[in-house]
Amino acid sequence: MKRILITGGAGFIGSHLCDRLLKEGNDVICLDNFLTGTKRNIEHLIGNKYFELVRHDVTLPFYAEVDEIYNLACPASPVHYQVNPIKTIKTSVMGAINMLGLAKRTKAKILQASTSEVYGNPEVHPQPETYWGNVNPLGTRSSYDEGKRCAESLFMSYYHQNGVRIKIARIFNTYGPRMRLNDGRVVSNFIVQALKNEPITVYGNGKQTRSFQYVDDVVDGLVRLMNTNNDITGPVNIGNTNEYSVEDLASIIKRLTISKSEIVMHPLPDDDPMKRKPDISLAREILGWEPLIELEQGLTQTIDYYKSKIDSTDYIIKR
Ligand code: NAD
Ligand code: UDP
Repeated sequence: MKRILITGGAGFIGSHLCDRLLKEGNDVICLDNFLTGTKRNIEHLIGNKYFELVRHDVTLPFYAEVDEIYNLACPASPVHYQVNPIKTIKTSVMGAINMLGLAKRTKAKILQASTSEVYGNPEVHPQPETYWGNVNPLGTRSSYDEGKRCAESLFMSYYHQNGVRIKIARIFNTYGPRMRLNDGRVVSNFIVQALKNEPITVYGNGKQTRSFQYVDDVVDGLVRLMNTNNDITGPVNIGNTNEYSVEDLASIIKRLTISKSEIVMHPLPDDDPMKRKPDISLAREILGWEPLIELEQGLTQTIDYYKSKIDSTDYIIKR
């Protein structure tokens, strides 16, 4: 039995990772400050003797004896990471330093949840891990993008300088149950709007693209990467290669929810990447991994989740 620390474990992806690692017979410590996550996401695990919930902020040091660390703590939705950009940078950078220090002391393996945002508004398409990216270091997305880029740099430095066993996963757009009702990302926005028959808000002309992966696929990719031998550090792209425009996504969600919503155009946020699609050759080769869940199948499961929560205020991020 391994003792595994998951920072951001009460968040959208983190809570599914808690489920998976407990199911595999591990002892799981879920650490979260509940900035964007919620106890609701892991309430079904309370009482499990192999599950421990800790309220803690990763910008402060944390002491525990662990075998593995998945570092997911960080607000991930543009709407939320832009509320307090200084805190977002601190979370990525100081969080990485604190968790890498913990990994160094305990000799634990540590995995960083990095992001396709390190590629910024990419000029190379699809994006391989060798692409250095096109990020505006001063723009509204920079607290997240540069924070995550600095975290990657810290991970590589602890690997080279201190021999810490690191893994970097670059996660592409992920959706699924447990993303908060007002998370602000496109899939949750569109589903909630469609279920309420409210206008579906497409930003810009809707021609920008994203490649959406279902949460179970990303969890499987992260676990496989953690289980690789010490020579493999990444970065490794974890994403679905099926690319959709935002306007197509709106139409698909409208159809699947049988919604009366109209589709309305809103201004495009600053520095919104125009296209995004992962090259996952590396993940296929070294992890034997590829996404298994098609968009409509994953959306159907996600819509069922939102239908069951839509009238509850417990699933809304409160400020
Ligand atoms: P989320 O907002 O649901 O989860 C983040 C969790 O981290 C929340 O539970 C939040 O309360 C917690 N947290 C934030 N700041 C913290 C702090 N200072 N100390 C302790 N806990 C803190 O988002 P998510 O989509 O589950 O993302 C999880 C991770 O995966 C993030 O690091 C994100 O950058 C990365 N990622 C996600 C996606 C995606 O599409 N979902 C894509 C790329 C990368
Ligand atoms: N988007 C949109 N309407 C919304 C929310 C987002 O059109 O209500 C667009 C957004 O401008 C972007 C895409 O959907 O082009 C994905 O946005 P999201 O915030 O989900 O993720 P990210 O931009 O970080 O990939």
